[in-house]
Amino acid sequence: MTRLVGLLERKRRVLAELGDRLSSESRARAGADHHSRRRPRPCGMTIHTGVGCSYVCAYCYIYDMGFSAIPKPYPLEPDEMAYALSLNPYVIPDRTLAAYGSVTEPFLPETRARAIEYMREVWRRLKLPTQVSTKATLTDDIVSGILSGDPNTSALVTVVTLSNRRLEPRAPDPKDRIRFAGEASARGLAVSLFIRPIIPGITDVEAADILRLAANVGVKSIVLGSLRATERIIRRLEACGVNTMEIRERLTEPIKGAKQVETKSSDLKAKVSRIAEDFGLKVFRSACEANIYSHRRYCAMCHLGPCNIEIGPEPLESGDVEELLEYLGVPYVSVEVNDSTVRVRLKKPRVDEHLKNLITTATYRRAIIETQR
Ligand code: SF4
Ligand code: SF4
Repeated sequence: MTRLVGLLERKRRVLAELGDRLSSESRARAGADHHSRRRPRPCGMTIHTGVGCSYVCAYCYIYDMGFSAIPKPYPLEPDEMAYALSLNPYVIPDRTLAAYGSVTEPFLPETRARAIEYMREVWRRLKLPTQVSTKATLTDDIVSGILSGDPNTSALVTVVTLSNRRLEPRAPDPKDRIRFAGEASARGLAVSLFIRPIIPGITDVEAADILRLAANVGVKSIVLGSLRATERIIRRLEACGVNTMEIRERLTEPIKGAKQVETKSSDLKAKVSRIAEDFGLKVFRSACEANIYSHRRYCAMCHLGPCNIEIGPEPLESGDVEELLEYLGVPYVSVEVNDSTVRVRLKKPRVDEHLKNLITTATYRRAIIETQR
């Protein structure tokens, strides 16, 4: 059995083991949950540790998505979450990147225990490379909890301003976040400073101060990301004293209601990157790149890659992919592989998006699927 087939066999075993252990109610709850079918985002499979967030950051879009400011732990038990992910056709053990903390702060008092249990259980069962983004201070307890799961977890600590506390009124002081990030790094956690969202006119102006503090406490890397705005976010930023003229000029389309609109930020990212490099910090262009790096992998899954080229690609032969296709019962004409792509010619007329995703994730290379007419 090749490694690729081995991954799917492992998933089948995890599903069978958890299916035997869980009650029929638990299986039904997990099967009905969106984690059992949602397609991963570019940063990986986002895993919700809670519902709602009490930090009420002015730039946060979760309130436009209908989430409240009163957080509750996510309703699935940890083994139900692992089962839901095992049911998900897009998830591949050891390969799919797991991202905790996308629509809430994972380490709120109300959700902290659940977040750590999820990270531990999903890692134990499926070995998905773990990433967590947080605005909490990484206390010893939290760091121990994280490290009790995936020891190579990529932890992203968000800081976007030091001066305007109104933007993050209930989150811990950013200087404390940075200080604790340094201590967590010293304990061996792979911590990056998460400079997202870059708020034009605020974050880029304060970047040198933020990055100096981070470098001084021993943080080694940063991840950058742009602002996504809605009408409500613009109003809230203005209420916090932000001059939103520059933000409005950078919007990629007219703002309307709760629709999230990107701001053009490539020049700001370049500026922050230059400052970071002057402080000796490594700059990741995306959260997944930080995750790939902390897990000492090489990835060429998207046009931004290949990432972490120093490591080099895992060996892959066309026979590995052929065996995978045979295991899946997919008739093919030919398979070609190189360091960044897998090209498959199928004996059928339509491209199967699920197959494309599966080959991409299993090989960390871009899958090019061709069909026979
Ligand atoms: S901590 Fe994250 S989820 Fe919570 S309000 Fe702030 S940006 Fe939103
Ligand atoms: S190639 Fe880089 S940016 Fe693209 S998915 Fe992989 S790690 Fe992420």
